Parts: sequence; structure tokens; C-alpha cells
Amino acid sequence: MTLPTPEAHVRDVTEVVERRSAGESEFLQAVREVLDTLAPVLAEHPEFIEGGILERLVEPERQYIFRVPWTDDQNRVQVNRGIRVQFNSALGPYKGGLRFHPSVNLSVIKFLGFEQIFKNALTSQRIGGGKGGSDFDPTGKSDAEVMRFCQSFMTELVHHIGEHTDIPAGDIGVGAREIGFMFGQYRRITQRYEAGVLTGKGVGWGGAEVRTEATGYGAVFFAEEMLARASQGIEGYRAVVSGSGNVATYAIEKVEQLGGKAITASDSSGYIVDEAGIDLDLLKQVKGVERARISEYAERRPGSHYVAGGSVWDVPAELAFPCATQNELTGAHARTLISNGVRAVTEGANMPTTPDAVEAFQGAGVLFAPGKAANAGGVATSALEMSQNAARSRWDRDKSESRLHGIMRDVHEATYDASERYGKPGDYVLGANSAAFVRVAQAMLEQGVI
Ligand code: NDP
Repeated sequence: MTLPTPEAHVRDVTEVVERRSAGESEFLQAVREVLDTLAPVLAEHPEFIEGGILERLVEPERQYIFRVPWTDDQNRVQVNRGIRVQFNSALGPYKGGLRFHPSVNLSVIKFLGFEQIFKNALTSQRIGGGKGGSDFDPTGKSDAEVMRFCQSFMTELVHHIGEHTDIPAGDIGVGAREIGFMFGQYRRITQRYEAGVLTGKGVGWGGAEVRTEATGYGAVFFAEEMLARASQGIEGYRAVVSGSGNVATYAIEKVEQLGGKAITASDSSGYIVDEAGIDLDLLKQVKGVERARISEYAERRPGSHYVAGGSVWDVPAELAFPCATQNELTGAHARTLISNGVRAVTEGANMPTTPDAVEAFQGAGVLFAPGKAANAGGVATSALEMSQNAARSRWDRDKSESRLHGIMRDVHEATYDASERYGKPGDYVLGANSAAFVRVAQAMLEQGVI
């Protein structure tokens, strides 16, 4: 059999995905971003071409789309759409969060599920990739409405998940409150206390210490490793951070613990600048406890100010952490950051940087860490939560954080080493994609054509 060249093979598979998933712009973006870097790996491993690995990898193993009916506080019936995509289980049970946001559709969930395969492979925790969610908008809903929605969502999802098959967790719009409501309904329907079926649980009933902080902390640990290679550190640097949810809050916390100064946070309405450094207690109170808008922070904190609309990327800093959502940092933003002297950009969110912005950073010699490596700390700690659940044990904070730190060092090393091996030392996009792809592809090859 004559094999196509790696470049031709990548082109052929990309064309199939473009035809089959026409209109799924986020998914196509994520697929192209990975496939475009894989030719050197395929040149080294022609058996991956022969084994049809790429063709299989871009097609989810299974996808569920379902109706989620619930009743609001005015007794009106509401209907949302629920989705779970089980993308790839070559390395272990499907693992990936649930996102509740009005922008959720099949393309968004497929892009996140596809990314999750590679991220999970990089953690070395033997977990496959999946993702799910709903176009339900928790903003402005009462706790009782959120509970009724979560119960209805789980009433269908229960048929598809389990501690050895598929283990969901949180993402945008899904935190400890939602995980609690969903776990309660799972337990009620199955009559089983299967703690390992969801991660991100309350620490009093099976959740892992430091899971809440893990994604943000992990991203800063990754940045620290990347900067150390370039003989720099977090200390003394200013950081611009977007978002003000789970990932952003704990990225800010770790930057401050390591001697840097985080000076911004944002939500979908605007951003705040606090040159003295973000007051974390106030941020957690406003966004976490009160679920209020970020503008509220500026009203209560002298010396800070709020900018409606706009973007945090206009604020000069050496470090940037996009931690809100996909495609929030564009080519124009990248050029502003570069001219303002940014040295490292670390993705806390999934695919927050557009392809032209990534190219601009890499062209300008700015260190750039893609989310599938840099934000892997969250899912890695979820896997540690699963281990603790299986062993019916509980680790303390120190042990949990030090395991997270160790995993992020390993992810950095594997990523950097792969960038060297495939000819572009310090290209973390190439490094993350290729290191992860080899692990998944090898497992798929060894498990036969399924
Ligand atoms: P949260 O729901 O806790 O916070 C999301 C934040 O981003 C909020 O401040 C929200 O503002 C803002 N945001 C959401 N959508 C938009 C938008 N369209 N434009 C501007 N701002 C927006 O989510 P997380 O912090 O958990 O997730 C943030 C990112 O990190 C996502 O990309 C997620 O996939 C990724 N991630 C999360 C992990 C986790 O462990 N939670 C793990 C790995 C990656 P507003 O309040 O106005 O909506």
C-alpha cells in the first residue's frame, strides 16, 4: 500500500472534517489547530497513517443530544438542550466538564471535547476525552431554578455516565453548587453512592482539596516553568487576567502568592483595573458569593476603575492570562500586548487565543502556552479526586497542591521535549499537540480498529 505524504494525509482528513462538520466553526478551528502541527509526527510514525488514526480521532465515539424540560419560579415550563459528546476513550473513561451558557451548541462542545482528549493525555492520568453542557443560562436564576434544571439534566445524563465510563465535572456556569445538585439526583436515581461519577464535589462529601483552585494555580505553575526556561520568573511582573470566574480567580491568587501583581479581571460586560493588585477577598465576595457584576468591585475598591466593554489586553503588563472564554484574544489584541512588552501568554481558558494572535506571539518571540497544556491542572486534580474516591481516602491540602505542582512540571517537560524533538524548541503548541497525539495514537493502534 502506498501511503500519502504526511502533509497530504493531514489535508485529506481536514477536508473530510470540513465537509462532515460544515458550519461547526469552533470545532473546525480546534481540529485545524491540532492537525496543522502533526506532519512531523506522522513522518516519524507512518503506522499512524496506515492505522487510520487521524480519521478516527476527529470523529467522536458517541454523541447524545437531549431535551431538558424544567419549571421556573413562575411555574412556566422551560426547555433547554443538553449535549454530551464522548470523544475518545483509548486512554481511559471519558472525562471532561459540563458548560452551562447560552452560547453552548454542538460545535462548542465538540471543540472542547476534542481539546480534552489531548489535555487529558498530557496529564498521564489515564483518562479519555469528553465534554458536555447546555444552553441553559444560570445568570439571574434562583437557586431553586438552578436545582430543578440540574435535576432534569441529570435525569437524562444518568443513562450515559458512570465512574468507569464517563465522569463529568464543571466548566463555565457549572461550579460546586451545580455539581452538588447533579450528584444528588444521580444518587437518588441510581440508589448508589458512586462518588467517582462526578468531580468538583464539595470537599465534605468526596471532593478533592485544591480542585477548585487547580486550573488557575496550574496555569500559573506552567507559566513559572516556561519563564524559568527563559531565565525569568513571575516575581515583580504585572499580569493582566481576563475573566473573574473559577479559573481567573485562582490564577490571580497564585500570581500574587508567587510575588507577581495581577491588575485586571473582567466579565462579559467589562473589566476592572486595580494598579495596587487585585483584592482577592473582594473579588471572591463580589463574583463568587454575591454572583454580582465585576463593575461592583470598582465601586467598592478605592483606586481601581471599571471600563465598560473594551478589553483587558489594552492594559500594559509582562504576563497575560486569558481565563474567560474561546476566541477572546484576537490578532489586534496580540499586537497591542506585544507593543506593550508582554513576555508570556498562558491560556487558562480553552482556545481563548485566535490563530492569528498565536502566530503574532510566536513571531514576536513571546512565550505562548496553549490551554491544552497550561490549563490541564484542573482535570489532573479531578483524576486525583477519582483516585481518592476509589480508595475511600482523602489527601490534605499540601499533598494535593504538591501533586498538582508535580503534574504541571511534568506536563511542561513533556511539552517542551516534544517541541525539541519535532524541530521547534519552545513551540509549546507543536509540543503539546505532538506529545499528546503520540500517547493517544499509540493506545488506539494497540487496541485495534474500533
Ligand atoms: P466560570 O463560569 O467560573 O467563569 C467564566 C468567566 O468568563 C466569567 O467571568 C464570565 O463572565 C466570563 N465569560 C464567559 N463567557 C464570556 C464571554 N462570552 N465574554 C466575556 N467573558 C465571558 O468558568 P471557568 O472559570 O470555569 O472557565 C473559564 C474558562 O476556563 C473556560 O474556557 C473553560 O472551558 C476553561 N477551563 C475551565 C476549567 C475548570 O476547571 N473550571 C478547566 C480547564 C479549562 P460572566 O460572569 O459575565 O459570564
